[in-house]
Amino acid sequence: MSPYISTPKETLRIIEENDIKLKKNFGQNFLVDTNIARKIIDLANIKKDIILEVGCGIGNLTELLVKKSDKVICIELDYNLSRVFKKIFSSYIGNKIILLEGDALGFNYSEIEKRYRVNKLVSNLPYKIAAPLILKIFLESEILDDGYVTIQKDIAERILAKPKTKDYNAFTVKANILADYNIEFTVPRNCFIPKPNVDSAVVKITKNIKLNAKKINSFFDFVDACFANRRKKLVNSLKNNSSISEHNIALLINFLKKMGKNKNIRGEELTIKEYIYLYENLISYL
Ligand code: SAM
Repeated sequence: MSPYISTPKETLRIIEENDIKLKKNFGQNFLVDTNIARKIIDLANIKKDIILEVGCGIGNLTELLVKKSDKVICIELDYNLSRVFKKIFSSYIGNKIILLEGDALGFNYSEIEKRYRVNKLVSNLPYKIAAPLILKIFLESEILDDGYVTIQKDIAERILAKPKTKDYNAFTVKANILADYNIEFTVPRNCFIPKPNVDSAVVKITKNIKLNAKKINSFFDFVDACFANRRKKLVNSLKNNSSISEHNIALLINFLKKMGKNKNIRGEELTIKEYIYLYENLISYL
């Protein structure tokens, strides 16, 4: 039996033999703990699923995913990794593994879902794009309704941040409009090669859209405008936004009053429910 890729020895061997130069800005930190990889796969409760794996790298997670699922749709940006991946998984490519090469932020997940029927996301996400990618995937897809992602702890903390804390921002509000999140367990930084500066967390994502899907993009614009300047009051942030008229600012102040809020409130002081309330009341005027 060949050794697991998700061990330090095997990962280092593959990197050296293939002369792979790791790219820090691509978040290339490979999971080298097979027990953790198994724990992620068990958590994902894979049966007859078609899995989306973003950032497959050299296959540290894929080797287990392919055995448990019907099919894995992999995305990888770095050609130097995908060429090695194709070599390692040559007998699976085109049947049990579909490899899409390119930037994960450039794909349309509604199309990927229609074409391949993916219904579950299991990925060790690249650090830089993890936040926008979670929003994009859960916004564009319909069948895909749960995810098990390994992300650096600071991103997990931003997702689960409470109002009035430094981590609570526009991303927190947007992410929670699309889904619910639970930190399942942490993964120490020494389970990766190369070792990142922070620990990671495995987060379970359960799709739960809390607003009419058609309104979400405009809701996201509204939330961005509310958080546009953290040091400013919410009303002043919105006043700087050319698409919101004086009249609508007056309405907003009125709605804030109805909610028992002061007009000097800052963006980070409103809960997600309050953002929905404000938006739903203002939408007909915006
Ligand atoms: N799946 C492997 C594992 O679990 O060890 C590697 C995970 S590593 C954290 C992230 C992977 O995402 C790397 O292989 C990196 O090249 C890839 N990546 C980085 N940016 C990407 C992007 N924009 N689109 C697709 N893949 C990307």
